[in-house]
Order: sequence, then structure tokens, then C-alpha cells
Amino acid sequence: EKFECVKIKEEQKTLPVYGYKDELLNAVRDHQVLVIVGETGCGKTTQIPQYLHEAGYTKVGKIGCTQPRRVAAMSVAARVSKEMGVKLGHEVGYSIRFEDCTSEKTSIKYMTDGMLLREFLGEPDLCSYSVIMLDEAHERTVTTDILFGLVKDVARFRPDLKLLISSATLDAEKFSDYFDSAPIFKIPGRPYEVKIHSTKAPEANYLDAAIVSALQIHVKEPPGDILMFLTGQEEIETVEEILKHRTRGLGTKIDELIICPIYANLPTHLQNKIFEPTPEGARKVVLATNIAETSLTIQGIKYVIDPGFVKIKSYNPRTGVESLLVKPISKASANQRAGRSGRTGPGKCYRLYTAYNYQELEDNTVPEIQRTNLANVVLTLKCLGIQDLLNFDFMDPPPSESLLKALELLYALGALNKHGELTKVGRRMAEFPLDPMLSKMIVASEKYRCSEEIITIAAMLSIGNSIFYRPKDKQVLADNARVRFSEGNVGDHIALLNVYNEWKSYDYGSMWCYENFVQFKSMKRARDIRDQLKGLLERVEIEVTSNLNDLDAIKKAITAGFFPHSAKLQKDGSYRTIKHPQIAYLHPSSSLAQIHPQPRWVVFHELVLTTKEYMRQVIELKPEWLIEIAPHFYKKKDVEDSDTKRMP
Ligand code: ADP
Ligand code: MG
Repeated sequence: EKFECVKIKEEQKTLPVYGYKDELLNAVRDHQVLVIVGETGCGKTTQIPQYLHEAGYTKVGKIGCTQPRRVAAMSVAARVSKEMGVKLGHEVGYSIRFEDCTSEKTSIKYMTDGMLLREFLGEPDLCSYSVIMLDEAHERTVTTDILFGLVKDVARFRPDLKLLISSATLDAEKFSDYFDSAPIFKIPGRPYEVKIHSTKAPEANYLDAAIVSALQIHVKEPPGDILMFLTGQEEIETVEEILKHRTRGLGTKIDELIICPIYANLPTHLQNKIFEPTPEGARKVVLATNIAETSLTIQGIKYVIDPGFVKIKSYNPRTGVESLLVKPISKASANQRAGRSGRTGPGKCYRLYTAYNYQELEDNTVPEIQRTNLANVVLTLKCLGIQDLLNFDFMDPPPSESLLKALELLYALGALNKHGELTKVGRRMAEFPLDPMLSKMIVASEKYRCSEEIITIAAMLSIGNSIFYRPKDKQVLADNARVRFSEGNVGDHIALLNVYNEWKSYDYGSMWCYENFVQFKSMKRARDIRDQLKGLLERVEIEVTSNLNDLDAIKKAITAGFFPHSAKLQKDGSYRTIKHPQIAYLHPSSSLAQIHPQPRWVVFHELVLTTKEYMRQVIELKPEWLIEIAPHFYKKKDVEDSDTKRMP
């Protein structure tokens, strides 16, 4: 352990930022706001908070450092606590949604930008902080963009608060301009040369091309690890499986290829694998989402494989529908990705697209605020007493349609009144760190006396689609196990409730999960989230009551949150949302997809776009509920049933 400590101290000294420590501390002392730019891996995130700690900034308050990604906040906090030789959660901690790993002692706190935004609700002047570092500013998440405006305002009346805006790109002028010409502190990097190989012709199948490239590098190129950028968990799992299979065929003459996936939902203990040094005689291939573009620095990468795609959110303000789409990356991203191979020595980047394709890419990714649903953010800002959103100090303003759409939704949910002012319902909703429709569903459960059930459903929905698994060799068994939970055509939300309650009746055991093809880890997380939601129910003084036998009451509570997502069956078997017409289909994984005749009226949790728009997590509803629940939103003619016949 002592040896490791010495090694860490040595490593710290080799980071580019180390040589600028005194200069940096002087700049922080002399200026309230500082824009810091330095290449990925130069030590911004892990070192700067430690320097400030040593310099005494934590004597008067905490250092808060935001990260756009959960995994980054956790991983960096773990690393820094190790470097400082303290236990994670004590002096150094992290806070992400539904997981607070901090204590009274914590003086360096890494957190997601979303958590800092929530902290504003309880502490609008951030008085417990002496330094706020908005890290990864170039990512321009909607939350970071909002934080820019909020911290800029706080800094005006708190001259003692230091603000650091740190970023990996050279487009620092924009940040500087926004923060009233704050000085820019550049940490010169010393990147090595990166040789770029582009394909001669566009690749028809980039996954296939990526796998072939990885194997070719492994067989032909000198030692050095590989980093492959993929768009999400599914792609990563596919590539992992194929690579495992194909390397087995290579025989014993070829070195071992260690495959390390990294994506947001990967269990924590597996995430750390990417940081373990590669053993002598082996090669590591890291299969990563965009998380490895700038948020996480992985040692030893010499080869980058860049298919040129990323999964990003897109939002249609007309329909209010948000989807995740796989899109080409920007030039800035392509350059960042390539740079990952040249950190510790000369590197190579294999672009699976042509040099011409590269020229055609957008310069920068469109900031998230211009392509996302703003309801959540608007509700938080309203809670902070910010009335005039159109005149909020945005670095890049969102489209006014998106703002109006958010206001419209919050009004429909009863969170705002006609004048756009926060209501009691809205204030209660804002206590929950969830999307407004989910929060409304929880608040509405009071009326239907089913809060026990609704928080279970909310927790299960928050887990996403990683509850069930379907091993390739046991698909029929897995499907049969799953069907049992939706018996009686109760719909997907109730099926999730049944899964949870049955698991609970088996003492939350892992064996039960195993036998029912349910992921134990996901269930434990759901339980944890549920406990927290229960605590929040108490905070907003909603009684915890169970109404398990009245499924209609539970469905009405769900509808009270999700009525804008109600849809009606069309003659061709598709569904059409009622207010802002949008055509969608039942997702094949939905239990309702198996029912004949199809249900005529449904309400869904979310839309996902793959080959077409699919509704995921769906229940059937009675159209008269819509009038009962949202009379200001739906009129009688909206829910008339005459023009649809039951499908044979
Ligand atoms: P920046 O924020 O400027 O991109 P970081 O402070 O994240 O840089 O990283 C500095 C160095 O610390 C890098 O060389 C990186 O490889 C190393 N590092 C960061 N996190 C870990 C970790 N969990 N394990 C091992 N090394 C790490
Ligand atoms: Mg960083």
C-alpha cells in the first residue's frame, strides 16, 4: 500500500497540470471566475480540487465539482479519495441521483450537474461552498447551461465564491465572454502525434467494420490498448459477444484480448476494470460510449476505433416527443476521440468513415438545451422563483417553442397556474428528482390512495429496461416467466408492480430473481430508489397508503401523470396520440402487444424510435378517465370512440 502511495504521488507529478499548480492557485486567488482549458487527461478534474484543498479553500466551505455523467462523478471521486488516502464518502465524496455518498466531513464533493441544480432549491446562495467547478463545460448539457446562469448570478452577491469553468476544448472564448470576460487559464498539453486512417469508402455496417479493425490491430499492431466508441449498451454487448467468440478462434499463438465494456448502466464493480493496468503480453480493448470521449481518461490507449456515431437526444417541440437517435458525431467530437490515442505516446485513430464524410460533419454538437424537453428544468427554475424564463441569461437560448411547450405541459399537469406561477402541486412535484410526469403520478397517488403501489412503479420505471433478461439459450423459459406477471392483461406498469411485490414476498432474494429471469442488481436498485421516494412522500406529507386491490385506482394515478401520453387505436393497428397527433406502435416487449383484439385506448410511459416509433411501458385506460382527470386538457370530442372498431 505504501508503495502504491508513492507511485500515485509520482504519477500526479507527471500530469501536465502539475507544472502550473502555483500559477493556477494565483489566478484563482486573483479572479473570482476563471475559465480553465486543458486537454483530456491533463488533470483538471482529479487534481485541481486537491490543489484548492491544500491551499485552504476547504477551510471555509466545500469544493463542489460537477460532472455531466453519473459514472464520471463516481469514478473520479473514487480516484481522488484514493490519491488522498481517505475513505470514499468521508473527505471526498460524490452525489448522484438516488445515491448520496458524502458525509458531514466531505469537503471535496463530485456530483452530477443535476444534483447541484437540485441543491439550489435548498441553498439558493450555495453558502456551504467556497468553490464551484463546473467541469466538462464543453459538453453543454442542459443542466450545465442552466447552472452557468445560476452561478453567474450567485457570484454577483457572493464575492467570496470562486467559480471555475473547465473544459477540454479550445472554444474557451465563448465561456469567457459569457462570464463577463473572465480570464482564460490554459494548461498546455503535450499530446503525441496521432495518425489518422480514414476508410476509402463509407462502411455499410460500422459494427462489423469496428470488430474487424479491432481484430486486425490485435493481430498485427505493436502493443497498446484499443478504445472503441459505440453508441450504447446494446451495441457494446453485441460487440463484446462477437469479439469473445472470434478471439477464441484465433488460437493460442495470439495474445489474450481483454474486453472491457463501459457505459452508464454497467454495475460499478465492473466499471473499475477499465482502469486496471493491462497485464504483460495481453491487450485490452475498451468498448465505450461517449463517456470515454472526455469524461474518463483511460491509461495506455494507443489505438482508437471511431465509427463516427453517437446516440443523442432529440426533441420535437411540436409533438413534445423526445427520442434517442443515433447520429453522426461532430468534428469536435471526432478530434477528441482521435486525441484519446495520443496521450502517452504516438497513437493511431481508425475512422470508419471517409475523409470527405469528416469534412461534412457539423463543427460542434448542438447544445442539449436546443434539442430537449425542458419541463423538468422549467419546473426547477420556477421553484427558484425565476419567473421570466424567456429572459433568463442563457449562453445559447433554447427555441422559444420548447420553453412554451414546457410551460404548457406543466400547466396541464397542474404544476403552474394560468399566470405561469407555481402551484402547491408544482411545489410538491419539484421535491421529487424525477421527470414532471412521474412526479405528478406520485403526487396524484394521494387522491387514489395508492401511494405504496405508485412509488414502486415509479422506482421500477426509473430503472429503465434492465429488469428482465433473456439468455439466448433460454428465451422461451424467460418469456414464460415474464408473461406470468402481466396475467389478466393488466399492462406493463402493473406487471412491474407484480414483479416487485412478488420479489418482496420472497424476502428480496436473489434466488427468486434467478428463477424468474429478473436482474437482481436492478431490483436492488429499484428497492433503494423506492426507499428514497418513500422518504420524499413523507416530506411532502403524502400518506403512504396501499390500494392494491383497486387496479383502476392505480391506473388512474398513472394516467394523472401521463395523460399527455394517451393514444387511441387506429384502423391499421397503429396508435395515434390524442392531442398532438403522433403515430406510434406497441413495443414488442410490451405485454399488451400480445393481446387480441388490441386495446383501444392506452397510456404509455415513453416513446422509443428504432425502425419506427414504439410505445414502451403501456397500460390500457378508459377514455372517460381522461375527462375525469384532465378536463382542462381533453374535451369530450377528443375521447369519442365511434370511429374505431375493435381490430379482429
Ligand atoms: P482531466 O479532467 O483533465 O481530463 P483527469 O483529472 O480526469 O484529467 O485525469 C488525470 C489522470 O488521472 C489521467 O492520467 C487519468 O488516467 C488518471 N485517472 C483518472 N481517474 C482514474 C482512475 N479511476 N484510475 C486510475 N487513473 C485515473
Ligand atoms: Mg475531466
